[in-house]
Amino acid sequence: MFHTPIEINYGTGNINQGKFNQEINKFIAENQNIKIIGIDRGEKHLLYYSLIDLDGKIIKSESLNKIKIGGKEVDFHQKLDEAEKERQKSRKSWQKIDQIKNLKAGYISHVVKKIVDLAIENNAVIVLEDLNFGFKSFRQKIEKNVYQQFEKALIDKLGFVVNKQKQNQRFAPQLSAPFESFEKVGKQTGIIYYVLANNTSKVCPQCQWRKNIYPHYSGKKTIGKLKNQYQLSMEWLENENRFVFEYKGEGDKEKVSVYSDVDRVRYDKNLNNSQGGYHIYNHSSSNESKDGRNIIEKSITLKLKELLWDKFSIKELEGELITEIINKTDEVSADDIKDLIGLFNVILNIRNTVIENNDDNSEIDYIQCPACGFDTRKENDLGIKNGDDNGAYNIALRVLFLLKRKDGIFNCIDGEGEYQKPKLTFKNTDYFQWVRDRK
Ligand SMILES: [Zn+2]
Repeated sequence: MFHTPIEINYGTGNINQGKFNQEINKFIAENQNIKIIGIDRGEKHLLYYSLIDLDGKIIKSESLNKIKIGGKEVDFHQKLDEAEKERQKSRKSWQKIDQIKNLKAGYISHVVKKIVDLAIENNAVIVLEDLNFGFKSFRQKIEKNVYQQFEKALIDKLGFVVNKQKQNQRFAPQLSAPFESFEKVGKQTGIIYYVLANNTSKVCPQCQWRKNIYPHYSGKKTIGKLKNQYQLSMEWLENENRFVFEYKGEGDKEKVSVYSDVDRVRYDKNLNNSQGGYHIYNHSSSNESKDGRNIIEKSITLKLKELLWDKFSIKELEGELITEIINKTDEVSADDIKDLIGLFNVILNIRNTVIENNDDNSEIDYIQCPACGFDTRKENDLGIKNGDDNGAYNIALRVLFLLKRKDGIFNCIDGEGEYQKPKLTFKNTDYFQWVRDRK
């Protein structure tokens, strides 16, 4: 569908990107039968994509670690990991560096081809992470510069897609303006749109809960400060055997509730003589044990209970507990306050990932929402399988918003038939409001 209206002769050069984007946006507005591919740099996967329709439903999503080349599946993630390990051991590491560089270049060219095919097959626009603003965490498998090479290769490829049916390069459809520089790319180049991708994997896809409260220890009066700043309260729910915390996070109009009966993993760089390891909290666990490099902890609920009983001397878990905790401040140590804040922060960590290392090839990577209980480890209506999948889905969803909003791409032609440049930036609060209203 993208083919017919936007055949601009690639060879002539001097294609104005603004004009080109305008043609694409007008075409999308007039047809409105596209799909969206969100692409995320993963923590467990080099890249991950999620293909969604205009209702926000996932049609297909998968890891781009493995790519089929000539009928054979190549696991680039594994190959890169192995090459990296060898480089660390090797004395002639420059040879290995070359090998890694080649592997990455090979990966980029194959993954770009796969994504372009996917876009053309599905009439889909592509959404990438805007690297000009904001930063993702340090844990991404693909570094920023490799992602930039990938972006550039994708733009180049889309700039000159050869239509296999026609086999005539003069009529090759062009889906992106020629690449000049990352600054000039802005928020759109042809069918590629860019969105801020920070924390996209850490939003609950079911209730849109996200961490917008940032408790950290700042002296023994911290709990009182949190109460004032976020209206923080805490209660024990006897029948449900769990604690509930309520607060008003940044940008929230109403209080939200999060619950203590969640599973979690937490990285700790100090474990195993500073080699690092994970604390693993299972909500049904009542004992502590060691498992290789990791510590299996008691449940968060039980740890909170013991902390309140043993340290804060709160024996009756009745009524609002934050006030009681504040009243006991003088009787407890700074560490007790830190432990309480630490456990609260663990509850707020919706994404749980164990990054594999030499002796641990763990598959742990799940989203478990502390507010609604959504859990990627269980079958879910959305069909989201893991944290990286969630990241790619939420990236795609942002462009669904850019299409459908009042001043968005679908509405870029006004009553008089004139083109109004669609708004391609947004405030988080507007976006989340839209997602909530969508239901
Ligand atoms: Zn949720």
